[in-house]
Parts: sequence; C-alpha cells; structure tokens
Amino acid sequence: MDTYQIIQEDQIEVLLEEGKKASKAEVMEIIEKSRDCYGLSLEEAAILLQIEDDEVLSHMFDAARYIKEKIYGNRIVIFAPLYTSNECTNNCLYCGFRVANKQLHRRTLGVEEIVHEAQAIEKQGHKRILMVCGEDHRKTHVQHIVDAVKAVYQGADIRRINVNAAPMPVEDFKKLKEAGIGTFQIFQETYHRETYKKMHPSGSKADYDYRLTAIERALEAGIDDFGIGVLLGLYDYRFDVLATLMHAQYMDERYSVGPHTISIPRLRPALDSALSETPYPVSDQDFRKIVAVYRLTVPYTGIILSTREKAELRDELLNLGVSQISAGSKTNPGGYEEDDREATQFETSDERSLDEMLQVICEQGHLPSFCTACYRANRTGAAFMELAKDAHIHEFCQPNAILTFKENLVHFGSEETKAKGEQMIDQELEKIDNDKVKKETQERLKRIEKGERDLYF
Ligand code: SAM
Ligand code: SF4
Repeated sequence: MDTYQIIQEDQIEVLLEEGKKASKAEVMEIIEKSRDCYGLSLEEAAILLQIEDDEVLSHMFDAARYIKEKIYGNRIVIFAPLYTSNECTNNCLYCGFRVANKQLHRRTLGVEEIVHEAQAIEKQGHKRILMVCGEDHRKTHVQHIVDAVKAVYQGADIRRINVNAAPMPVEDFKKLKEAGIGTFQIFQETYHRETYKKMHPSGSKADYDYRLTAIERALEAGIDDFGIGVLLGLYDYRFDVLATLMHAQYMDERYSVGPHTISIPRLRPALDSALSETPYPVSDQDFRKIVAVYRLTVPYTGIILSTREKAELRDELLNLGVSQISAGSKTNPGGYEEDDREATQFETSDERSLDEMLQVICEQGHLPSFCTACYRANRTGAAFMELAKDAHIHEFCQPNAILTFKENLVHFGSEETKAKGEQMIDQELEKIDNDKVKKETQERLKRIEKGERDLYF
C-alpha cells in the first residue's frame, strides 16, 4: 500500500478547512449524535476539532463524560512504565535520550536489573508494565526485549507487559508475540511529513514510512493489540489528531482491527533538548478538547495518559474519557531502585505514589483496575472490539476491576487507602446487575482476603 494513501495530508487539510464552516447547530447535532456510541466520521471529527466556543466545548465535554461512563463505567486501568535503556542512536530533537545529548548518564539494564526494576514496581502494587525501550540496535535489539519480557513474567508477579519500542521487521515482531507481550505501542510523533523530517534528522527513525507501517507488520506477526498516538506540541494538534484517526480508520477498514489504545503524550522539557521551545504549544483547554474528540470519535479505543501531565489536570481528564493512566512513574532506566535525574527522558509532572493516586481516584468516584484478564483469556484484537462494541466487555470488566483492586488493597494498601478502597468496592458491587456474577464476585472477594491471588472472569 502506498503510504501516502494511508495518511492523506491534502485530505486532512481539506477536512479541517471544511470543519471551520460548520454552524453551531451542526456542531451541536454531531455532539448529540455521538452519545449513541457508534463513533463519528473523520468529517465530523474535523468539525469538533475546530470548536473554540467555550459553551460548545462544555457540551462536548459533557458528551465525553457520558460516553466514558456508558462504555467504561467508572473504571480506570493503572500501569507503570519500565525503561530498559536510554541508549539511542537516533537524534529526535525533542528527546533527552537523543544521541547528541552528551550530558545524559547512559545506561542499558541487564536482564537481572530489569527483573529487579519489575519487582520494585510490583512492590508498589502494579500488575501491568509498559516496557519502554531505547533504540540502539547493538544494545536494545529484539533479543534484549524478548529476554527482558520472559524474565519479568518469570521473576515478578507482573501479568501483562506492553512494549513501546522502535519499528521492526515481521520476524522480530513474531519473537515479541512468542514472548507474550500484550500491546505493542508506537507513536508516529507527527504525521506531518515535513515536520517529521525536521524532528528526526538522522538515524533509523528518520524513515517515516517504516514507522507508519510498523503496526501492520505487528499485526502480520499476530500482535493484534496495538497502540498509536502523536507527541502533542510538534505540529498543529488538529492535523495530528485527525491524522491519528485516519490511521485508525485505515487499520479498521483494511484489517478489521482498530487501535486498542491511543496515547496522548504532550511534549515536556527534556535534558539538552534541541528544541528551545514547543513548536506548537497545546494549552490545557486544547488538551481537554483532544481527549473529548478521541472519546466521541472512537468510543471503544482506550485513551492512555501518562505522568507527563500535572496532577490536577490528570484528575480532570479521568472524567473526560481517559481510561488508562500510569502512576508512580520513573523515566530513567533503573529509576525505581535509584533515581538519577541526569538519566531521565523528560521531566514528569505528577510525582504522586501509586498509593496516593489510588486514594485520589477513589475520592473522585473512580474504580482503579489492575485487570489483565482479557489478554490472558484471548479477548484481544477483533474479538475484544466485538465484545466492546456490544458492551459485553462491561460484564467482565466490572467484577475484574473489583477483584484486582481488592487484591491490591489486601497486599499493598495503606490503612487510609484500604478504608477508601473498601468503601468503593462495596459501592461497585451493588452495580453488578447479574445476580450470579455478583454472588460469585462476593465469594471470590472472600478468597482474596484469605490470600488467594489472580482471580478473574
Ligand atoms: N525509542 C523508541 C521510540 O522512539 O519509538 C521507544 C521509546 S521512546 C523513549 C517513547 C516515546 O517518548 C516517544 O515515542 C516520544 O513520543 C516520547 N517522548 C520523547 N521525548 C519526549 C518529551 N520530551 N516529552 C514527552 N514525550 C517524549
Ligand atoms: Fe531515541 Fe526514542 Fe528518544 Fe527518539 S524518542 S531519541 S528514538 S529514545
């Protein structure tokens, strides 16, 4: 497939121009229609991306909250990143790991060190890891990732490892699949070719097309959960968000599998970054708009938010449609055991521990989930989407969130978190409509109290 057909820049520009012409009544109609949870077209998304009126925006935010609640309930999935290396042969202008940064303390963790990191993450109470890899083929080649994934599954009670790594050939993706990774995540950074070229002046990442087609090779290798996104701030967010949706639509139409997740990283200051300022700043209000447009357009795709964002905004975005967040994160290899700020990729903004985060999530009426069941019960890719679209996924998610949160509280919760968490669990149990499932969940909760682990539907 001609990659210019996957992301049609001219078409995106036309849609965005047309989007400006919509009347307030037309915009409101699209927002109302989105509440059916069937998703929206690219034309409609382009119109929503052009909203500037605060009153109309607040209607869109209400719709995003409604859809989030209807599809995901009040669950929030929690994970932690694990950086395996900060050695990199690329020179992405915005990243602290770029090869030209001579100030960075470089380090690639050995397999044993990676397992120690995973154990430190596990001690916080996590069950899901996102393994984030540098891009130096001599150090962080596929075998390094494969060995790390296998060793962590064996050496720590981590139940799902997602991977964020450089694009690779199908044979290498097959090795990742065989090692048992969950989602393969890769960000195009910007879909705007000219900007992409400027931001990635050298190294293998300079190849836009090879990166764009990575998820198709992953799919060919049998990895049907893939995550995409752009680095917000590199180019006009309207263009890049619409392009992300175009990429998602292309995958859905051609392979019948849309992205499992879309991430929304926003550019952060990085040690020795080559960018003196953010080229296209994204305000907090723009950021809320982006989350809402994704939620309305692709309601069944998870939205991932990281600790790049400050605490108050993160709390707010949970209501607008974010379905997964990281907590207690470190962005330097080895950071969970010893913190070296001269080795981090970028500055994180939300430094709260997982335990603190869990309290805030409960206080805001959300149910933290450490569930990893779908992947292990083969509910992935198209099978997952089918269940999600019929809203059946809710029947698994709710009890699984309750059970996994309970397990976290029993083993890791502080007294304060336990008190708030137990209250939340009681409240959530009442929401299970199916009496049989409710009863079974109550029984399993008792078993977890007695020390049993890893119970799920
Ligand atoms: N090296 C691989 C790559 O570039 O795809 C995988 C890991 S890279 C460390 C993960 C992501 O970090 C990048 O895709 C980019 O979006 C993000 N990133 C890099 N520099 C950043 C910055 N200054 N602020 C926020 N996110 C950044
Ligand atoms: Fe290397 Fe990835 Fe950072 Fe680019 S974004 S410099 S490829 S680690």
